Amino acid sequence: MPSITPLTTVDENGFFKTAVKTIQNIYQELGYKPQAEGWTILASFFLSRQPNIDAGTSGEVKVISLATGTKCLKASRNIQGGELIHDSHAEVLARRSALRWFFEEIQRVQSGKEFKSAWIDESEDQKFKLHEDVELNLYVSTVPCGDASMRLIASTQEEQMATLKNASAIPTTEIDTNETSRGRDNYARLGALRTKPGRADSPPTFCMSCSDKIARWNVLGIQGAIGSLLLDPLYLSTVVVGEVPEDLRETVKEDCERAFRKRIGDIEGLPKGYSVHHPKVVFTDVSFKHSRSASESTPNACNEGKHLVQRTDNTLLRKLSNPAIFWLSESEVASHQVVINGLKRGVAPKHRFRDKSRPLICRLSMAQLLIQLKKPEFTKGVHQPTYQELKDLAKDYQTARMSLLGPNGPFAGWVLSNAEWQTFAILGYQPNKDEEPEAPAETAQN
Ligand SMILES: [Zn+2]
Repeated sequence: MPSITPLTTVDENGFFKTAVKTIQNIYQELGYKPQAEGWTILASFFLSRQPNIDAGTSGEVKVISLATGTKCLKASRNIQGGELIHDSHAEVLARRSALRWFFEEIQRVQSGKEFKSAWIDESEDQKFKLHEDVELNLYVSTVPCGDASMRLIASTQEEQMATLKNASAIPTTEIDTNETSRGRDNYARLGALRTKPGRADSPPTFCMSCSDKIARWNVLGIQGAIGSLLLDPLYLSTVVVGEVPEDLRETVKEDCERAFRKRIGDIEGLPKGYSVHHPKVVFTDVSFKHSRSASESTPNACNEGKHLVQRTDNTLLRKLSNPAIFWLSESEVASHQVVINGLKRGVAPKHRFRDKSRPLICRLSMAQLLIQLKKPEFTKGVHQPTYQELKDLAKDYQTARMSLLGPNGPFAGWVLSNAEWQTFAILGYQPNKDEEPEAPAETAQN
């Protein structure tokens, strides 16, 4: 599957158009269809290298991951294992898949074979970083859920729009992110941290909205805590957003810029290598064939906007697609997997602890791959770390995280998941080979 496209244009529109078309071609080749009449969101991380006219070199786009998905698990489904993916919104799955691509790229570099990465280099601190001329970008087929999408969604709902049109209801100077709103409660509280999903009658979750997560990546990087043990912070240069009608682009751009960076403000005292980044927000006209607006005329956001379709007009009552799919470039393990209810599709819950049953990008799989890559450091003692202990090794990341989410940070209202869910042993779920049955059976250990 070609994930690299040469670029000869320096025109920004042409550049991102090529990128989005490459992403959609990859999606197309996966042959995945949302459930009957369903729609979904597509997100992708891609690397880019601008053409250099003076040097006579053409640019390149390299798609490293993509994902679809619109669901997250309710809080009660959170369990201790690390094998469940709690948040299956497309942006979040695409980020995890991108991180897995970086881990596997490092594995290729470390393989001892004649492999030279065109995209990453070793950094001064014995980690890896992007090549100097390479940028990291995110594409989302619609506006990310949460703060960035409030006015877009409101524009399709007459009552709320009436409120929002009242300028005095919109706090434009004072943004209070210490208090977290649930889903779409209080539309007019622009700048607020919000949990998923948006519907008031659905069970609560501990997952923060995609707008909040993208903003967090702009301070901490997309690599997360365990990724920072191997990688310098990886920051987004551009966020490409699809499916925004022309007449709403100015409003949505303002909302994205506030949601992704302005509400963070400045943060003092971040560790070396960390800073608040301001990715550019651009729109694309390339439409996504499985988006809601491809089948309806309603603009959407990457959350469960069922209320948008609960209208008297039955033609608008469409089902939200349940399964999510993720893909990563060049993976020798599996190029893509389908996730449903946080687990790999087709795996009975009692078999989920088996190596091959877990999604490639769940916390446990990622931590195990990290340990393989950093083996000499982690096998010194007999102690095998828990997931939380692994995260605690990332000292600079944790300092930066506290500056953002701590009591004095701009995102102090961030809803943290139960600490107990981070304490699973990373190697604790290895099945005992002697006792593991050949085929799925009632006696399988879990
Ligand atoms: Zn989302």
